[in-house]
Amino acid sequence: MSGRTLGARADLGQNAAMLATSDLGHGIHAIDTGFVRPHFDASHLVVEGAEAAFVDVGTTASVPRLLAALDGLGLPRAAVAYVIVTHVHLDHAGGAGELLRLLPQARLVVHPRGARHMIDPTKLWAGVTAVYGEEKARRDYGTLVPVDPARVTEAPDGFTLELGSRRLIFLDTPGHARHHFCVWDEASRSMFTGDTFGLAYPELASARGAFVMPTTTPVQFEPEALVASIDRLVDYAPQAMLLTHYSRVTEIERLASDLRRQIGELAALGRAADGKPDRALRLREGVRERVFGWLHDHGTPLTTDEIDALVSLDIELNAQGLEAWLDRDRRG
Ligand SMILES: [Zn+2]
Repeated sequence: MSGRTLGARADLGQNAAMLATSDLGHGIHAIDTGFVRPHFDASHLVVEGAEAAFVDVGTTASVPRLLAALDGLGLPRAAVAYVIVTHVHLDHAGGAGELLRLLPQARLVVHPRGARHMIDPTKLWAGVTAVYGEEKARRDYGTLVPVDPARVTEAPDGFTLELGSRRLIFLDTPGHARHHFCVWDEASRSMFTGDTFGLAYPELASARGAFVMPTTTPVQFEPEALVASIDRLVDYAPQAMLLTHYSRVTEIERLASDLRRQIGELAALGRAADGKPDRALRLREGVRERVFGWLHDHGTPLTTDEIDALVSLDIELNAQGLEAWLDRDRRG
């Protein structure tokens, strides 16, 4: 903390933003985007020499927090060379258009399948309102700002980016979404995983360590592809995975094997419920039962109410995503 007395409101705002920013070492900072609740949605900032890159940015409402984090680190806005979005779901990429408008030197780096949706967000918005309804979508995600196509870099599998003297490598990782890549940071031997390596909210950890669970959000969940993508990430032998929900985990092998098992259970649940008249209800209840079971096996100290408060949204989205997968599967 600085020795200055707290006075100006601007200082208080900046201090609050810095409290929500953690230094993970190797020039990597986790910034809480403020979406949904604390420790739900992270943006990561990679700083190398005079350059910086954001990896995932939250929603339009998150942008002031990201700018405050830059200010807090003494980085000018022109230092940000890249805004990287792991995929175009709005809790990862919704704020990219607004952020780019305020960062004069930055380019957007996005999966080739996601680029057109960042340039013209109409379809993206329609997809979100289909899941949440117009009113909730507007309240939670704000307005989507289109990105100038001249500022877009598409990153196919194997694409590399130099950030100062640091190399970032992009891996196509379908399974959660077909417009998803993960980013390997050679310098820290860590992987920015977006949603591919699941969700690990810190509150769900127990004495046995971090708890992870897959996210099967609509509309492009593919269990086999997701397991193959996880295997590919693990092959890099990372020292850490940096998840958007929420930030740094280690114990990679244990978490990866938990995810493989859980994805198998969710796919089996989906296949068993498919064709039944009460499929939606079976899936919602089945996903909830499994998530609670995994947490209890992990020795969670949380009560049922506490668990529901943390994961009921993901249970609902995972159930909906299983439905979307089964419907797509049937259409072939
Ligand atoms: Zn996602």
